[in-house]
Order: sequence, then C-alpha cells, then structure tokens
Amino acid sequence: MNIKLLICLIVIAITGCAKSSTGRNQITLFSNGELSKMGVTSFEELKKKEKISLDKKTNQYVQCVANAVIKNVPKSAHSGDWEVVVFDSEQVNAFALPGGKIGVYTGILKVTENQDQLAAIIGHEVAHVIERHSNERLSSNQLTQIGAAAGSAIMSQQGVKNKETWMMAGMAIAQYGFLMPYSRMHESEADIVGQDLMAKSGFQPKAAIALWKNMAKQSKGAPPEFLSTHPSNQTRISDLTQHLTKSEGKYQASNRPSCNKP
Ligand SMILES: [Zn+2]
Repeated sequence: MNIKLLICLIVIAITGCAKSSTGRNQITLFSNGELSKMGVTSFEELKKKEKISLDKKTNQYVQCVANAVIKNVPKSAHSGDWEVVVFDSEQVNAFALPGGKIGVYTGILKVTENQDQLAAIIGHEVAHVIERHSNERLSSNQLTQIGAAAGSAIMSQQGVKNKETWMMAGMAIAQYGFLMPYSRMHESEADIVGQDLMAKSGFQPKAAIALWKNMAKQSKGAPPEFLSTHPSNQTRISDLTQHLTKSEGKYQASNRPSCNKP
C-alpha cells in the first residue's frame, strides 16, 4: 500500500483526507478558515516590513495581470476579494497566500519579459493556494512532530538507550523521505495547474516555458530568491512543454487581456 495513503487512512479517523485537482490524496489537518487567518497575518507582517511600491503604472500593470488570473480561481480557494501588493524590492520573488493575498516584488518584473510571463508566475503561485499546498505542508510538519512525540513516548516506556540519537535519525528520515519529495510534487502540480489557469485567463501558456528558461539564465550569477524555493530544471521545462497542447486549447477559448508593461 502507498505509504501516504496508509497515513491518510490513519489520519482520516481524526480529520479528513482531501484530493487535489490532479487526483492526488492529501492530508489537510487545518480548516480553510485557519489557513486564511495564517495567510492574512503573514501578509500584514510583510506589509509592515517591506517597502510597498506606490508607482502607479507598475501597480496598474501587476493588478491587471492578477485580476485576469483571479477571475478564474475557484471560489473554494478564496471566496472574497483578493489583495495584490507590489513590493519595491530588487528581490526576484512573488507569492500567493491563503486568504486571497498576492505579493509581487519589482525585482521579478525585470525577469518577466511580458504580461504572459508575469501571468505564469502569478498562475503558479495561486495554484499552490488552489491546491492547498501550505495546508499539506503544515499538516505534514504537525504529523512529524506528533510522530516524534509518540516515538519518544514509546521508547521511554521500553527504556531504549540513546533515545536522542534515534529521534534525530527519525526526524532526518521524515525530513528527507517525506517532506522533501512532497515539495517537488507540489512544484510540478503548481506548474501544471498554473499553466492551465494562465491559459484560461487569456495568457499564452508557452510563456511559462520561456519564463523558466529566463530564470535558468538569471541563475548563472547569484541565483534569485525565487529559484531557492523553485529550482529551475529540465524536468520542469519538459513537463510544461508536454502539457502545452492541453493548455493551448484553454488559451484558444479565452479572452486575451492587454496589460501594459511599464
Ligand atoms: Zn512553487
């Protein structure tokens, strides 16, 4: 039996197991409300910490692209309005948070050559929210802690020697065997879901491929922040190329926005 399915069956006794739109089993221990609250709090913190761009044209451009994408986000992901903030920073970064929050750093606007490439970034980030990836990530962290606590309790009962060493080894296995591949899986899911989302929103889906090629070029110097959490690789580009026929169909059926890059 698939280990994740097994865990899912155990966890189902406590909470619910969900399915992502690509049909993957998910463990989500938190409610949408809890996640939204966490997202909103983090966003408010960030707004206090970072410099917010007041440049009118830049804000209009980002808002225009984000609006087109947001229109096609299922209400189940966020039912209220979305807030889009441009941060005035050289950081090549962007993110979306549960609770309807999108942050775009001006640094990434230099890497994205046009509205389609910016839509590829926003689509990918929003896809992480649609597919409840942060819920899964937080849930697996929580389960790792519960597992470690349970393991520790059992070992104390049985008087196991070198308890700490065993616990450390256990945690390391959980980190690399469970948490790490999870994140790669989330990346490829966000790539595919994001590419469909941008296409549905009227942006050329092949721009997602051009974007990652761009990113790879950028990383020759000091790698941008975005790449430390989103490693650019050949698999990613070939997956997006393979999915292009499907997303092209969605693009053909869409209305193309015209957002002017300042
Ligand atoms: Zn990502």
